[in-house]
Amino acid sequence: MAASIIDGKQLSRDIQAEIKQQVADFVAVGNAAPKLVAVLVGEDPASQVYVKNKKLAAKRVGIDSDLMRIDGSSTTEDLLKLVNDLNNDSSVSGILVQLPLPDQIDSLKVLDAISPTKDVDAFHPENVGLLSQGRPRFLPCTPFGIVHMLFRSKITTSGKSVCVIGRSDIVGKPMAMMLAQKDSALGPDMANATVTLCHSRTKNLAEVAAAADVLVAAIGRPKFVTADMIKPGAAVIDVGINRTDDGLVGDVDFDAALEIAGAITPVPGGVGPLTVTILLENTLKAAKLMSV
Ligand code: NAP
Repeated sequence: MAASIIDGKQLSRDIQAEIKQQVADFVAVGNAAPKLVAVLVGEDPASQVYVKNKKLAAKRVGIDSDLMRIDGSSTTEDLLKLVNDLNNDSSVSGILVQLPLPDQIDSLKVLDAISPTKDVDAFHPENVGLLSQGRPRFLPCTPFGIVHMLFRSKITTSGKSVCVIGRSDIVGKPMAMMLAQKDSALGPDMANATVTLCHSRTKNLAEVAAAADVLVAAIGRPKFVTADMIKPGAAVIDVGINRTDDGLVGDVDFDAALEIAGAITPVPGGVGPLTVTILLENTLKAAKLMSV
């Protein structure tokens, strides 16, 4: 039987409707609307699309947003000054520096300079540390979007075997950390997994992947995950976004996986929309933190 397709666009619409109501409730008691400021350095076309989508999504739920466009030849110091100004601006709830930054900029230095209470991407070491201790402030957008997807698709992780391929700070590592915790923002059923985190040095990767009840691919290689790497009935979450001559494809061979998986996310229209949605959730949370 073909896998069910997890519709990330529809799930995002559902969650955004809930966030819109929560924003309205927050404003109704006298607070200013939450405000997200995105910093875009240079002219990278993909980054421009991502930032535009985030602005449109913010507008849909009643979150104000601003885009700060910075010249591609800017220095680390230029960016640090801008981040410092945004940290000190009480009208700004959340700050997002769109990655990747040009080579001459020290990305870690810039991300570390964002106030941890405005760090809606959850990249700051303080927020990563809180997450690792199981008491998160903000949850990283893509991994938490995936937990939401599983939750709303009635796929629990407690006691299950999860394989995450890719160990980036943005997706793989926090994903593994979140699912291995004792509890989650959506309850213990959405944590408590036995997680294997795979990477380019993993031996027998196909075997490890094929033993997983939930397989998360965050690699950046088109159609890397083939049918033999999938346990029959497994949930397959494809994070990859690869631009190829055939258009946008994920890290999973979708057509082959469809025949063996129990549930699968498409690319596009899977994980991507959830990432944007969780950014909005985090921006509202940041505004609430500032208002207490
Ligand atoms: P990344 O920083 O590019 O790292 C890739 C990871 O994949 C690394 O850990 C690397 O292992 C591993 N890898 C590469 N080749 C491998 C191989 N042959 N076998 C096993 N592991 C291998 O990853 P990322 O930033 O998480 O991005 C991954 C993909 O997700 C990209 O396509 C990106 O565009 C997409 N993405 C999508 C969203 C979304 O919202 N949908 C969000 C973020 C990223 P090593 O560590 O050993 O090098």
